[in-house]
Amino acid sequence: MLPILEVRDLRKHFPMGSALRLGPRPAVRAVDGVSFTVREGETFGLVGESGCGKSTVARCVVGLVPADAGTIVVQGEPLTTARGMRGRRLHRRVQMVFQDPYASLNPRLAVGTTLAEPLVIAGGLSRAEIRSRVAGLLVEVGLPENAAAKFPHEFSGGQRQRIAIARALALRPPLIVADEPVSALDVSVQAQILLLLDALRTSHRLSLLFISHDLAVVRNFCQRVAVMYLGRIVEEGPVERVFAAPRHPYTLALRESSLPPDPVARERLARIDGEMPSAIDPPGGCHFHPRCPRRMPICAKVAPAWTPVEGQGGVACHLHPPAS
Ligand code: SF4
Repeated sequence: MLPILEVRDLRKHFPMGSALRLGPRPAVRAVDGVSFTVREGETFGLVGESGCGKSTVARCVVGLVPADAGTIVVQGEPLTTARGMRGRRLHRRVQMVFQDPYASLNPRLAVGTTLAEPLVIAGGLSRAEIRSRVAGLLVEVGLPENAAAKFPHEFSGGQRQRIAIARALALRPPLIVADEPVSALDVSVQAQILLLLDALRTSHRLSLLFISHDLAVVRNFCQRVAVMYLGRIVEEGPVERVFAAPRHPYTLALRESSLPPDPVARERLARIDGEMPSAIDPPGGCHFHPRCPRRMPICAKVAPAWTPVEGQGGVACHLHPPAS
């Protein structure tokens, strides 16, 4: 499968305090050298605890925040350096679905206007064609055509997320970035939205970058996954391999915390102790070492190198050193 999105050594730090302050300002190291590839037609999961930097990666990919360093390439064309008309054309290839369907839709715009807006800005379609495209989009996401005349407050959370998905689809992008698209919804509605996204992926030959804190959701929905911890990717691979045989202690702990509680097996489960440290002053060496049940003296001093796992992704952990 061809790559749709290639992210290489992406970095994004957010300086803290006043810009007038003398000397170097402390910074939140939200994304600290992240690389991954999303292939044509796949759903690629980016998973980790809140604050690990996954949403910042998503925002850099769609151009909502500028990257400090690194490259983002969409269908072979670099997004990070594209400017002007070409930049706008390239950015249309990547659309986003946000976590909160209540906040992501303009309450003052009728749904039809919201869906027509990107088509009007892109140009090239008559009013009749835009009306027809809007009606088609509503049907595709399972809403009646008369939804176009209504306003967001007239819909449930699940229906609003369907509208947000329709808006993301309007320009027929090859890639959609979905940032926790079901975590604000009732459990009963979550499965419906995931099924809809998966059906659209197939029918539109879409690729999805799926951001989630929930490894269980990622397991059922994605083909490959990258696990993020404190601004870095610590493990990556096909979901079956990562879930069945996690190499990184953090992935193992995430997996165990996503399984239903089993009092008999409880003693054997790995636990994540403590809170994730601050991204302003992350621990040296392996960022995970203060919480890792398998840490060794080297872990506090040296950041682990990336080791490929039998052609199925890779892991960054001193328990799995690169072959010499
Ligand atoms: Fe644990 Fe060391 Fe591996 Fe980090 S490098 S996950 S501290 S064993």
